[in-house]
Amino acid sequence: MSATSSKETLGFQAEVKQLLQLMIHSLYSNKDIFLRELISNASDAADKLRFEALTDSALFENDPDLKIRIAFDRDARTLTISDNGIGMNREEVISHIGTIAKSGTREFFSQLSGDQKKDAALIGQFGVGFYSAFIVADRVTLTTRRAGLTFDHGVRWESAGAGDYTLETVNRPERGTEIVLHLREGEDEFLSDWKIKSVIRTYSDHITLPIVMKKTEWKDGVETPTLDDETVNRASALWARSKKDITDDEYREFYKHVAHDFENPLAWSHNRVEGKQDYISLLYVPTHAPFDLYDREKRHGIKLYVRRVFIMDDAEQLMPQYLRFVRGVIDSADLPLNVSREILQSSRDIEAIKSGSVKKVLGLLEDLAETQPEKYIEFWNAFGKVLKEGPGEDYANRERIAALLRFASTHTDTDAQVVSLKDYIGRMKEGQTAIYTITADSFAAAQHSPHLEIFRKKGIEVLLLTDRVDEWLMSNLAEFDGKPIKSVAKGGLDLGALEDEAEKTAQKEAEDQLKPLVERIKTTLGERVKDVRVTHRLTDSPACLVTGEGDMSANLERLLKAAGQAAPTVRPTLEINPSHALVTRLNGESDEDRFKDWANLLFEQALLAEGGQLDDPASFVRRLNGLLAMLPG
Ligand code: ADP
Repeated sequence: MSATSSKETLGFQAEVKQLLQLMIHSLYSNKDIFLRELISNASDAADKLRFEALTDSALFENDPDLKIRIAFDRDARTLTISDNGIGMNREEVISHIGTIAKSGTREFFSQLSGDQKKDAALIGQFGVGFYSAFIVADRVTLTTRRAGLTFDHGVRWESAGAGDYTLETVNRPERGTEIVLHLREGEDEFLSDWKIKSVIRTYSDHITLPIVMKKTEWKDGVETPTLDDETVNRASALWARSKKDITDDEYREFYKHVAHDFENPLAWSHNRVEGKQDYISLLYVPTHAPFDLYDREKRHGIKLYVRRVFIMDDAEQLMPQYLRFVRGVIDSADLPLNVSREILQSSRDIEAIKSGSVKKVLGLLEDLAETQPEKYIEFWNAFGKVLKEGPGEDYANRERIAALLRFASTHTDTDAQVVSLKDYIGRMKEGQTAIYTITADSFAAAQHSPHLEIFRKKGIEVLLLTDRVDEWLMSNLAEFDGKPIKSVAKGGLDLGALEDEAEKTAQKEAEDQLKPLVERIKTTLGERVKDVRVTHRLTDSPACLVTGEGDMSANLERLLKAAGQAAPTVRPTLEINPSHALVTRLNGESDEDRFKDWANLLFEQALLAEGGQLDDPASFVRRLNGLLAMLPG
């Protein structure tokens, strides 16, 4: 750094370097999109200025005609994109342009495989925005001044996209941001009026702001800019146009702009609502989960407009948490322009718009599930875990959300979540009154749980729930279509009409016969159990543990404890299988010490079978070894 200039050289965040390399290689075949990305940013910058100027009109600096200008210079081989939007101050340039301010960046990098093809698909999901300039440019100069700051607060950022960038304070009378791309060798096609216009019309026609270029004329066989401006895009709000005038491609490109996504959306719903509230909504369901789906601080949700004027990004009051993956625009005709987040929180109008929009999204998903079930499963795999928060959050729409849920089940016996509650009900056995579920922390644990034995024997389907959120879901979803939803690991087993008289008599007999054994085990296990009883839910296993109907499930207790949260220790009930050889052996055991060991062993293996942890593994091993040593050699 020299003392005479204020130029400073700074290093990129390590990830940026890696990202740039990857991006240049993987996005090259689709390189035109850099222009879309830069125009999209310029448009956002204009929206932000317009919004801030609502309360401080001085920010317009007597230049209220917001626009984006694109110019090229054949001799210098540069392409320049400039806007008179909000601009950036020095800190903003460093944090927005020198770092990737995205949560999930680390996860993103950990997913990269080094396999170009796979990584290329990933980078699309990640979205690279500004950096896409380096696909066609080997040097990028960004000069900017934030609206409202004096001219001497201009900032110039320059980088060749290798390891570092320079930063310099400059004098800049113009407000906003100018980005000069020094084109790489061989990228001369972007020095053509025709090419640039065609890229803008393909990707950025929906941008609400005018995108302006100088008209050109041919002089001596050379295309030369004149002094006259022309607007290249349609410059009207896409969502305000009539549905029939919008092509699917236009809808898709608009999505990429609002969602900052490189991929096409999965589905969308465009509505003009008139009546008590007048508003337009254009809501999209993305194809992939963003990297920050589980981050509560995430950005880029629904954009709120009031009569075409951008008001705010990520208006969380407009969509409930369980639909936080939805992207798009809501444009209200009724709200005041100076609406703040605080006002939104308590606004009845907003409540009505939100509830109307939620219905639209649910309708969109129902339609997808009905007409394109495979596409719906794609959606489910990306966002199902989030939608499962729905029944707990949105009481009014509980039944509709429940109908959209998909589960793994013993019917398919794979971990693919494809079974709906409606499918399940359609397959219920004669005399079956409840929907049965089991929660566990892995698919294998659920699938092999001893609790399922009787259900498998009788051919009764059980839903296998292994997502973390499932416990929360089950505690908020007690029934569907009038049928109770029951955990097979909770409460006494009552299969009601699913059992015949002979079975019931046999059970009663076994219970009477084993009463003394049950008492003996209970005394032996003491505090370890709440109760001991004979069960008929087991066919192969000697014993299992169940919790009370109203108790927290053992799985939830483990999840909470693993997360370091306080959870009451629920004492389980031990159920024993009267027809198992081990139980018969135990019943005839007269040696008191041996009985104690075996009773404890019975309890401990039941605990292990459901994924629980032993308090005292060493004693368990000692007991087990004692038992093994008794086997005939
Ligand atoms: P994204 O747009 O997805 O946030 P980008 O890398 O494209 O990612 O941009 C990063 C940030 O830099 C933007 O969120 C914005 O704050 C800022 N930025 C980019 N371009 C401009 C611009 N033309 N004017 C003002 N700010 C900009």
